[in-house]
Amino acid sequence: MRPDTPADHVDHIAEAERLERTAGLYPEDAEHLLLQAAAHLELADARDRATTLYDRLISPSAPHPPENPTLIRALKAANLWEYGHEAEARAIIEGVRGTAPADAAPWVIVAEALEAHDELDQAHETFTQALTALLPSTSADAGAEPPYPTHPLLFGRHRVRRLLGAEHDAWDGLADRVHRSRAAAAGRTPVPLDELHDPKRVWALGSENPADLRAEIARLQAELGSYREALSRPFPVAVLHWPATELTELLTAYPSLSTEYPSHETHLATIESSLRELSTSGTPNLGIVTGTVPSYEAFAASEGASPGDSSLLPLYATTLAARGRAAGWPPEVGGGCWCGSGRAYGDCHGGE
Ligand SMILES: [Zn+2]
Ligand SMILES: [Zn+2]
Repeated sequence: MRPDTPADHVDHIAEAERLERTAGLYPEDAEHLLLQAAAHLELADARDRATTLYDRLISPSAPHPPENPTLIRALKAANLWEYGHEAEARAIIEGVRGTAPADAAPWVIVAEALEAHDELDQAHETFTQALTALLPSTSADAGAEPPYPTHPLLFGRHRVRRLLGAEHDAWDGLADRVHRSRAAAAGRTPVPLDELHDPKRVWALGSENPADLRAEIARLQAELGSYREALSRPFPVAVLHWPATELTELLTAYPSLSTEYPSHETHLATIESSLRELSTSGTPNLGIVTGTVPSYEAFAASEGASPGDSSLLPLYATTLAARGRAAGWPPEVGGGCWCGSGRAYGDCHGGE
């Protein structure tokens, strides 16, 4: 199964419009879909249109109350600040911090917005406030793995503290440790966080050499951008998985797809190897979506295409991912394998 098109080669406006149409077909998934549509509009620099979508989602007259209004407000604030609405953005950020969300994502968005606009002390305060709210105070020394969604908070706080020239504290030590174990799990040689967040960047700000300064700023922006992208946008790069019974039914009904899927075993092995390849090449935010024959047929009908057309498969995967149906890959440490065998991932497709 091929992964969908990498985000950089997407026509963001067309993709946003496709997601908005899809939201019309699946109103129960509209929040996921419209948030991703807004992300595409932001990437296309159609920021006022993105604001309109955020407002639509949190409007009191929206057909479904949003599941995560605080995340939407945080995204709206970050977007507003990017096109000159600083005062409004700051007011929304204060509001988000005041509600002390139980979920990491809105904290990450507002802290990074402050950081991106050089409000380093406030960014530091926000990261710290978030970790105080979300991590038990003992977790820095207990050796336990902090929950995955808190990792960008640990990394962001580490980054800002390096920029501020602060000494390492227990959470910085934890950030270093988590960064190492994530790189190892993805099969990469880790570049230490202290090198990524090198305080040379701070010295470069006072440097005589404008090329140094530009290089440091570009590096910082690229890093901010990749975290933000991994968090919520444009969507997980998802690979399509058919359980054995569904695959049999699919190939019986549409034999033309047999070239794509020679056997179920090969199909499963290909999923794992595609994801590993993507991970090694540095693609963040990977996932697996599970297909069913009825949902695939309904999707083909909505696209006006035949289910036997294999070029439809990547688009089906993308649409499932955009509807929020992707399971993250790799599974959590000690978690079950994505293939549904009931074995631990490490003893199944996660093995060598
Ligand atoms: Zn460190
Ligand atoms: Zn497996």
